[in-house]
Amino acid sequence: MACPTCGGENTATARQVYERAVALPAGWDPALLAPPPAPVDPATLELPAARPPMNGRTRAMLIIGALLVAYWVFDEAAGLGSTDVGDQTYQAGWALGHLIKLLAGIGLLIGGVAGYRNRRWAVGDPADLQHLHLHNRAVYTRRAQVWEHAQVCLDCPGAFFAAGVLRPDFPASPLIGLGQFPVMVATMADRAFAGAA
Ligand SMILES: [Zn+2]
Repeated sequence: MACPTCGGENTATARQVYERAVALPAGWDPALLAPPPAPVDPATLELPAARPPMNGRTRAMLIIGALLVAYWVFDEAAGLGSTDVGDQTYQAGWALGHLIKLLAGIGLLIGGVAGYRNRRWAVGDPADLQHLHLHNRAVYTRRAQVWEHAQVCLDCPGAFFAAGVLRPDFPASPLIGLGQFPVMVATMADRAFAGAA
């Protein structure tokens, strides 16, 4: 297969280069010509057993709740939970304020713990995930097909597609730098098989 730039025949397929089936020029990284990565089936993915980290709101509820309870304990220990000053209404208000501090603290702690326990990893609808996976799978199949047809010039170096290998009406591609190879494969797959499922 002649290189579109130098016209030489010192070429190999991307697979041959990737699998080191041919002698490579010094300094070549075959990983540059790796096949497109296969998508992972979401049905085979396992969710981590641990809960996701708590969010800022849950953390704030727990901290403020703990502070209020600690404040209440401190007041209680210091004998500030009630007062002898003022009339009965004032004293009742003081005691109520003291009690509200405790209740609010406990409420925030309960809310924070409940918020933490209810946290789940965000998981999509299994049907949607499967649909997306089928789409990714189809894209992957097209790219893998294109990858199988990629040729590499070992002298230039670069990758190219010969005339008609992807589709009968496709002319030969120009030589493209190896750094652009994955993008080239993706683009050619879209162009050659656009509309195909
Ligand atoms: Zn060449």
